[in-house]
Amino acid sequence: MATRLTGGCLCGEIRFAASAEPLSTLACHCADCQRYIGGAPAYQMAFKREAVAIEQGEPRRFVKTADSGDTITRLFCGACGSPLFTDLSKLPGLMIVNAGAMDDQSNFKLAAHIFAASAPHWHTFEPNIPRHDGDFPRRPATT
Ligand SMILES: [Zn+2]
Ligand SMILES: [Zn+2]
Repeated sequence: MATRLTGGCLCGEIRFAASAEPLSTLACHCADCQRYIGGAPAYQMAFKREAVAIEQGEPRRFVKTADSGDTITRLFCGACGSPLFTDLSKLPGLMIVNAGAMDDQSNFKLAAHIFAASAPHWHTFEPNIPRHDGDFPRRPATT
């Protein structure tokens, strides 16, 4: 059976589906993600870009240039404000989807923490999950 992982925003205006399993999962503790998500950290899934299709609605975009010089685009619902996707200029083959936007989160398995040094002191890290103080030491494969 073909993979079909569906998700959407709080108000239901935006709906999307992924046609493949995520390439990787992560919890990003960077200061921007903390603000974007409204909590810490952002649990995210990296999909091959072509595997993710927005099937209903048009997300609004907020573009910010990171300290690294990369362009980071946040996509969210303009009606209810739900954060949905993150698009990184340095990883054009990927679409980062927030785990909380998925209809079914039961299969989410966290692979790594990144920017862990920015986590608030009250965040409790799960044991046995790789933890990087900054970004991934090596970029995840995009193909
Ligand atoms: Zn919405
Ligand atoms: Zn982040």
